[in-house]
Amino acid sequence: MLPEEKKNWVRDRIVPEEIDKYLGAGGGDFIPDAEIHRLLAETGEPAAAQVRELVAKALAVQTLSLAELATLMRVRDPELWAELRAAAGAVKRQVYDNRIVTFAPLYLGSKCVNDCAYCGLRRSNPAVERRVLDMAAVRAETEALAGKLGHKRLIVVYGEHPESGVDYIAESIRAVYSVKVQTRRGVGQIRRVNVNAAPMRISELKTLKQCGLGTFQVFQETYDRRAYAQLHPAGTLKSDFRWRLTAMHRAQEAGIDDNGIGALYGLSDWRFELLGQQAHALEMERFCGIGPHTMSFPRLEPAVNTPFLEQPKWRVSDGDFERLVTLARLAVPYAGLIITARESPEMRRRLLPLGVTQMDAASNVGVGAYADGQEKQKGERQQFILGDPRGLDECIREWAAAGCITSFCTAGYRCGRTGKCIMDLLRTGAEGKFCKLNAVLTFKEWLDDFATPETQAVGAALLERELAEVRRTQPQVWPAFEATYRRIVAGERDLYF
Ligand code: SF4
Repeated sequence: MLPEEKKNWVRDRIVPEEIDKYLGAGGGDFIPDAEIHRLLAETGEPAAAQVRELVAKALAVQTLSLAELATLMRVRDPELWAELRAAAGAVKRQVYDNRIVTFAPLYLGSKCVNDCAYCGLRRSNPAVERRVLDMAAVRAETEALAGKLGHKRLIVVYGEHPESGVDYIAESIRAVYSVKVQTRRGVGQIRRVNVNAAPMRISELKTLKQCGLGTFQVFQETYDRRAYAQLHPAGTLKSDFRWRLTAMHRAQEAGIDDNGIGALYGLSDWRFELLGQQAHALEMERFCGIGPHTMSFPRLEPAVNTPFLEQPKWRVSDGDFERLVTLARLAVPYAGLIITARESPEMRRRLLPLGVTQMDAASNVGVGAYADGQEKQKGERQQFILGDPRGLDECIREWAAAGCITSFCTAGYRCGRTGKCIMDLLRTGAEGKFCKLNAVLTFKEWLDDFATPETQAVGAALLERELAEVRRTQPQVWPAFEATYRRIVAGERDLYF
């Protein structure tokens, strides 16, 4: 593409009418800066009774208001904090039981027209190799992920660039779904393709929906509009705060009802970010009755040749990170809560009991790095440096030893249990019944197809307990379930309830 064509592509990307229609009568957006600053200026420790009322609200799977979340932020008493941590774990168990959903990120390109100060892939960084994978390479990456590692669910990540526009994204989703690989006992394939990409137009999102897109993720990076303006240079596509802020509205209008939001923690005061993210969740509920399907909590990590990351003013300490994850779990009790391998193994162990529902494993954020077997953490090929380089087998063994079953289930999406339907099921606990069955079936598949003997042993003990629980708690389903389980044991794959 000629430089002039690229310039025109950038110039024409944003559709002002697809921002303005979501703004208030006075042209304002839904991040109430003044209110957030006022709430953050309050300092009084809340009474224990008030805190416990809010915990009860979270346990009833009700979303907290901004003022309620800010109240919990002001808790300092160590005993009350211990109660909040325990409540976060309880909310997770109530909504998601003991399941951990796992996935892998798949970066398909390192070309980007933006220049975000904190990102290794920013266009002004000469230290990064630039490429966008062709479809043969996309299939090769998928074969490695589905055939060697046993992943069933991906988050595919795209830079914002004309070479990875909507047509490319659609083609690559189809390419990922097309791959089937023979495994030890059955067939491996990716069953859910989630996408992390730049904000898009409604018509483009409709195209992706037709390709079988799972969750659509756009992270605001920072909800603090002053920090946003400083970190995203004027004149770049990403500098338009509201085009990004309204990305989920357009997705909803396009019929995509599983959407993921997040902030990159460390770009501004984490307390402002968390309240901004809460305002976003509340706005999604107001706009179409469906809040975020997932919320992500990436924290700044080093990246090659990126001076901004050497001493960021707002770096979030490990202690504060635990606090914000606890608060987020209580604030939007039904949402999936994702902690990625940006974090160290130790940090992920600390966060797991606080209500995390999804973690990636065996991740490699280098473009083309799964298939070519190159060493992980090659800085010039990736956006940032990972904190947890462990393989899937090791992670699954650790989670199983902690009593968590890894679920590769993708049935909800394929049975139409998405959006409002899944939110209602999660709120009432009904989804848990399907999820337990499907978690057991997919866990068994994975153990038979991919696990080491050591992990098979730990997993088998967990499976025995899970099977006994299904038999005890769902006796009416047990005969059909047991028959399906036996088919999985015999080598059939992709059976679900
Ligand atoms: S954060 Fe995203 S948009 Fe910004 S430079 Fe990196 S890849 Fe591009």
